[in-house]
This record gives sequence, C-alpha cells and structure tokens, in this order.
Amino acid sequence: MIMDKKNNFGINTICTHIGEIEDQQFKGAISPLYMATSYQFDQVDKKRYPRYFNTPNQEALSRKIAALEKTEAAMIFGSGMAAISTTLLAFLKKGDHIVLQETLYGGTYNFVVEEFDRFGIEYSFTESLRLKDFEKVIQKNTKVIFIETPSNPLLKIVDMKKIASLAKKHQIITMIDNTFASPINQTPVDFGIDIMIHSATKYMGGHSDILAGAVAASKAHIRTIWNLAKNTGGSLSDFTVWMLERSMKTFNLRVKRQNKNALKMARYLEKNNHISKVYYPGLPSHENHTLAKEQMENFGGIVSFELQEGIDTMKFQRNLQLIKPSMSLAGVESTMLNPAQTSHALLSPEERLKQGIRDGLIRFSVGIEEVKDLKKDIEQAIDKIL
Ligand SMILES: *Cc1c(COP(=O)(O)O)cnc(C)c1O
Repeated sequence: MIMDKKNNFGINTICTHIGEIEDQQFKGAISPLYMATSYQFDQVDKKRYPRYFNTPNQEALSRKIAALEKTEAAMIFGSGMAAISTTLLAFLKKGDHIVLQETLYGGTYNFVVEEFDRFGIEYSFTESLRLKDFEKVIQKNTKVIFIETPSNPLLKIVDMKKIASLAKKHQIITMIDNTFASPINQTPVDFGIDIMIHSATKYMGGHSDILAGAVAASKAHIRTIWNLAKNTGGSLSDFTVWMLERSMKTFNLRVKRQNKNALKMARYLEKNNHISKVYYPGLPSHENHTLAKEQMENFGGIVSFELQEGIDTMKFQRNLQLIKPSMSLAGVESTMLNPAQTSHALLSPEERLKQGIRDGLIRFSVGIEEVKDLKKDIEQAIDKIL
C-alpha cells in the first residue's frame, strides 16, 4: 500500500497511486478487486463486511479521497444522496436545528423539506449567500451549517472562511457539498470547513457511468457518520468502488482540462451576440469573482448562460449535434440542460425568478472535447433558429 503521511506527493501521483492495494500474489499493476461479502473472523485485524464500509477496496479508495481533501479519513457511499442524508442525520437529532444556504442541490433540498419534520429536526434556509443572512437564522439549538459553493446553477460563491469562523464561534459543525468544485479546485478544510460531501457520480466518476457518494472529514467525525451508516446501509458495491478508483486516476487530468475548456467557453459566450448573460466564477464579470479567486484554485467545468430573448431553449438544445442535452453533469462529454424545465421544474416560475433562474438559462457542463468543436456546435445550433 502506498501511503504518504506528509502528503508530499503531487496531485497526479495522489490520484494515480495513493491508497492503492499492492497485488502481493501476482504483482499486477493495479489494486486487485475483492468482491467477498464474507471474511474470516479470527486471526485477522478486523471484522470486514461491505456494509461496515471496510472492505479492502472501500478502504483503498477512501484513502485516496481523504488525501485529496486533506482529511484524516473518508467513506464511500452508494450515491451522493446516501452520503448527504446519512451525514446530516448523523449530526442531527430531535430538537436540533440546521442552517442551510438558500440555493442547494434539489435532492438535498427535497430531503430536508420532505423528511426532517418526521425526525423533529428544525431547519432554516438563508435569504442570500451573505454571511449576515447565515448569522440571522442561527438559533441556540443550531448544530449544523450546510453550504454548497459554487452553487447550482448560477455558480454563486459562499465565503467558506467566514462561514467556518461564524460556526466555530457558536460551536456549530460545518458541512459542504463540494461536488461542483471537487477537491481539484477547492479544499474546504483549508478554510476551516469540517465535513466535505460529494456526489462521486459527477467529477470523481467523470464518465457518466457510476453512481456513488463520498464524505471526507476527521477520524472522529467519520466515526460519528459510520455509527449511523452501518445501520442505514448505504454502502457501494465493491465492483463500483474499484471502477471509481480507476476513474480517479485521471481525476486531476480531466478536471484541469474541463477548467480550461470552461474558461475558454465562458469567454467565448460572453462575446457571442446571441447570449445575453454568462455566469462563470472565473470571469471578472461574475459577482463573486474576487472571492472565487481567493478560495478556488480554478473555477470548475460548469458555465451557465442565458440565450437572448426569442431563441427557444428547447429548440436550441435539440439542434446541438455534439453537446448532449442531458441531465446530470461532469462527464468527459459536454452536456447542457435548462434548469427551468429540468432540475428546477418543480419550483413555480416566481420562485425560480426569485432565485435568478430565468427560462432562457442553460447550464453547460463542459467536457474535455476540443473547444473549437464546442463553439462550432453552439453556433450551428443558434444559426438554425435565426
Ligand atoms: C448530483 C448531485 C448530488 C446527488 O448525488 P447523487 O449521486 O445523484 O445521489 C448532490 N449534490 C450535488 C451538487 C450534485 O450535483
């Protein structure tokens, strides 16, 4: 097993090697896959069982994710929502209160508003992403602050350092959904955030073929999450864990390329006469650009933009030949969707507008293709409508 306690390895070395299992029997170059659901119980170091999150492959991948998030420990889940729901419930009990930021991933929002009442857990959403609006809703029984930055779909940025110090003042645990940035672009622990949660379905998997989740935190916090997780049972099949380990060898290469492509596309879209607005934290025109530069290494692979009035978003997306009009995001292939008709369709038009989500808004998950081909595809899709 290759470990690096001092974290001296560079990012691509971490992605390729950290945590891997040495094949002592056959000397294969990659981690062997252990699919066993039954392990000998005596003469061994621990009682292994997939639902205890401690099979060899689960532990191997957890070490890689912990190294990337610069935490002591990590756990792999069967989905991003399994990771989010288990982590939230592990730190909240009847009578507790949680503060959540205004715009959140739809699944997280639904979990809170549809399920928390039955557990007797109180919750408040902030009015904006500004610190004072977090401060305003903190109560005596607040146990957790939950943030997501950059947010979906307008890529708004939350100040992690300010949130972390506010939380510490009140002895509140901070959690971040770090899916959009990924640890390649942002390591929240550096700013004092306690628990990092991921939909590994997105950038960690990166090929639109794995559903998984992950949590990274201190050993003590992971222990708290584990205590509940072993009972709720949201673990991931070892085969998929092993696939995810493979995907993550190219994690940095993929995301770096997506960052680069996204910045180029954002600049291009900003100059395009048929696009009325572009949202990308890497653009100086973005409302939180300065803050984004302070806490992000790069600005990620998601760009949102509004088509000029009169261009039908559905027609535009149907005309695309290379970019796929698809749900989800973060694959090596470029995809687009319009939140008003997909991820945010359940909100009323007024609620959407309040969040700044117009009908002409498109969320663009930029892949690793050649930028010139992506530009050409957008141009021909618009040309066909005009
Ligand atoms: C997709 C996503 C999730 C949910 O993850 P699943 O793997 O679909 O359960 C949570 N947060 C964000 C930001 C996401 O994009």
